[in-house]
Amino acid sequence: MALIDALRDITGPANVLTGDETARYSHDWTGKYVWTPRAVVRPANREEVAATLRLCAEAGVPVVPTGGGTGLNGGTFAEGGVMLSLERMNRIREIRPASRIAIVEAGVVLSAIHDAVAEHGLAFPLTFGARGSAQVGGFLSTNAGGSNVVRFGNTRALVLGVEVVLADGRVLDLMSELRKDNTGYDLRDLFIGAEGTLGIITAAVLKLVPAARAHATAMVAVPGLAVALDLLNRLQGETGGAVEAFEYLPAAYMERLARHRPDLKEPFATRYPSTLLIEIGVTAPHEAEPLADGSLPVVTRLEDTLAMAMARGEVLDATLARTEAQRAEMWAVREAAAEITFAQKPHVDTDISLPLDRMQDFLTAMTARLHVLDPGAEELAIAHLGDGNFHYTAFPSRDDAPLLATIRNAVAEEAVRLGGSFSAEHGIGLSKRPTMADHKDPVALDVMARIKAALDPQGLLNPGKVLP
Ligand SMILES: Cc1cc2nc3c(=O)[nH]c(=O)nc-3n(C[C@H](O)[C@H](O)[C@H](O)COP(=O)(O)OP(=O)(O)OC[C@H]3O[C@@H](n4cnc5c(N)ncnc54)[C@H](O)[C@@H]3O)c2cc1C
Repeated sequence: MALIDALRDITGPANVLTGDETARYSHDWTGKYVWTPRAVVRPANREEVAATLRLCAEAGVPVVPTGGGTGLNGGTFAEGGVMLSLERMNRIREIRPASRIAIVEAGVVLSAIHDAVAEHGLAFPLTFGARGSAQVGGFLSTNAGGSNVVRFGNTRALVLGVEVVLADGRVLDLMSELRKDNTGYDLRDLFIGAEGTLGIITAAVLKLVPAARAHATAMVAVPGLAVALDLLNRLQGETGGAVEAFEYLPAAYMERLARHRPDLKEPFATRYPSTLLIEIGVTAPHEAEPLADGSLPVVTRLEDTLAMAMARGEVLDATLARTEAQRAEMWAVREAAAEITFAQKPHVDTDISLPLDRMQDFLTAMTARLHVLDPGAEELAIAHLGDGNFHYTAFPSRDDAPLLATIRNAVAEEAVRLGGSFSAEHGIGLSKRPTMADHKDPVALDVMARIKAALDPQGLLNPGKVLP
């Protein structure tokens, strides 16, 4: 109780939640992880974050930061710990259009950034299905990817500066607004993707880009991954790299969509082996402004490319969005993926990346291997194809923990064998720690452990996460 009272002195009693008040923070989006925190503290500024960390360091109590709680790997599991929710630190401090930057606090929700910068004709191009809940601190800490990485990179590529409160309560001010700064080690990128194990992110400087004036969006049926990759490379060449999204949905996804989300319309009457969601964004007026007949040049160009590919038999079918509503319908189909994947239990959800030209090799090998491990298992492989990122999920025929672990390990083994990574964009959290132990380079693990020990010698920041 002494600790709780002292926390209340820092943030005010209304911002230290205990008992039933913590229910909203005691589980993650997946529902797989459930815990009972000692308290949830909701600081209003970095000074309150610093005072909370100093107090918890003195008391030897673990601190687990949380954003929107949409992480998919148990990263906010906080049994017995003090959870630090930065939701009250939700100010967009500045948008500076001339510098193409936004300065934001850690508790700002991603979609609020989208809305605010759109008023200036700008975009913050990170986006994914959980954008209405995920917060700056969370998406920086997982180095989130999403649907636009093929053009704009993942979170690291979109951040200029961060402010971090260290385990001992000191503030590390790395709020650079610079695009070039070679003053020693890159500490900013150390904290991005650290999943709250090295410090608490309290603010960031984000890079903005000109908002697309028009999009060409299409659902495209293709026979398989090799043809899809050819199409991606052709479109990149023709558009000067303006492909913003290149997403892959197999026939198995459409079957599950019909089962779990009958309210969403399948793109085609026929179920093709592979469907792509392709989006091209343009800013130049000659591509984005409607012609006399009402057509948009960027849409016409995509249509022509697809028509030629169809004549060669590379594209089996295609439908283009003619209105914003049709575009939104196409994205709703793609963004139901997390819900559809997690709907069936048991499952082994994974998040791997591969060289683009090895993706088919992975699927061929993994499908065969899964069949040997569990002949009754089903699989679903959705991809941010333009990034070489598969969300490969196996649905085993029985809920058998050793079998699930064996399948998880097999996916990682196949990915690593083909030059890939077992963790592309969701982070490690709790669920991938065994895979870290088995597949991460031991020297890299040793360096990470030393960095952790230097920054958090008591091991109180998000303990038990990331490092095996
Ligand atoms: C429907 C859905 C779709 C998704 N699609 C994608 C996708 O396409 N691409 C993708 O990359 N991810 C995706 N995700 C997962 C994604 O990682 C998270 O949505 C997001 O990045 C986490 O933000 P959050 O605020 O919810 O963080 P939380 O889940 O609250 O936290 C995530 C991690 O960050 C740490 N953390 C939180 N705040 C701070 C802070 N201030 N300082 C230090 N550490 C902190 C936490 O301790 C935890 O380890 C999806 C999730 C859902 C539910």
